[in-house]
Amino acid sequence: MPLLPRRFERLKAVLDRRMGDLTVVLEHVDKPHNLSAILRSCDAVGVLEAHVVSLAGRTPTFNCTAKGSERWVPLHRHSNSVALLQQLKAQGFRLYGTHLSVEAVDYRACDFTGPSALVLGAEKWGLSAEAAALVDQPIVIPMQGMVQSLNVSVACATLLFEALRQRQAAGVLPTCGEGVPAERYGPLLFEWAYPEVAAWCQREGRPYPALDAEGAISENLPRTLKMRY
Ligand code: SAM
Repeated sequence: MPLLPRRFERLKAVLDRRMGDLTVVLEHVDKPHNLSAILRSCDAVGVLEAHVVSLAGRTPTFNCTAKGSERWVPLHRHSNSVALLQQLKAQGFRLYGTHLSVEAVDYRACDFTGPSALVLGAEKWGLSAEAAALVDQPIVIPMQGMVQSLNVSVACATLLFEALRQRQAAGVLPTCGEGVPAERYGPLLFEWAYPEVAAWCQREGRPYPALDAEGAISENLPRTLKMRY
C-alpha cells in the first residue's frame, strides 16, 4: 500500500517532537519485556534514541510489549559502559545514575531540562561500580513500601515522564524538528516512511531518494522494490 499523505504528516509530526537531548542508558538490562516496555515509554515521551550496554554474546530482543516502538526509537548497542558514558559526557549530557545509595537525591529535585542521560542498571544487580562512579548525579525514586526497588522499566518511565513534565513546564519541548540534529532529520524521516527502501539503499550504498511534499518518492526505483512499498 502506498504511503498516504496523512500517514506522512503523522510521521513528520512525531519526528518534529523528538528530543535528541534526552536519552536512556541501559546497563546490562536484557529481559525482552523490560527492553520493550522501556522503548515504548521512550517513544511515548519523545526520546530520539536510546543506548544499551549488552553483556557479551547477548543481542537485545523485544516482545509484543514494544508494540513496534523498536522501529521508532533506535536502541544503539555498546559493549562498554565506561566508554559510552564518557562519550555522552563529552557530548554535553549530564548523567543521572539510578543508584539506590545514601548519596542519591530524590529525582524530583533534579533539573532534566538540559541534555540528560538517565542511566539504569541491570534487573538483578543495578548499576555497576564503574558506571556509578562516572555519573554526575545519583538519583532515586523514593519508595514507601516493603520492596526495595521498582521494575527497571517502571523506574525508567517514571523518570522519563518527570523529564517531560519539567520540559513542558519550562516551555522547551521541540515542536518543529529542532530537537533532532539537522543532518539526521531527512534520513530518519525516510527510514520511518520507507524502511524497506532505506534498507535497500543502504545495501546498495545509494543515497535515499528525495521525497515530495506529500511524502511520495520522486525517483524511479526498480519495479520489484516499488511493489514492496
Ligand atoms: N538490587 C538492585 C540494586 O540494588 O540496584 C535492584 C535493581 S532494580 C530491580 C533495576 C534498576 O531499576 C535499577 O538499577 C535502577 O536503574 C532502577 N530502579 C529500580 N528502583 C528504583 C528506584 N526506586 N529509584 C531509582 N531507580 C530504580
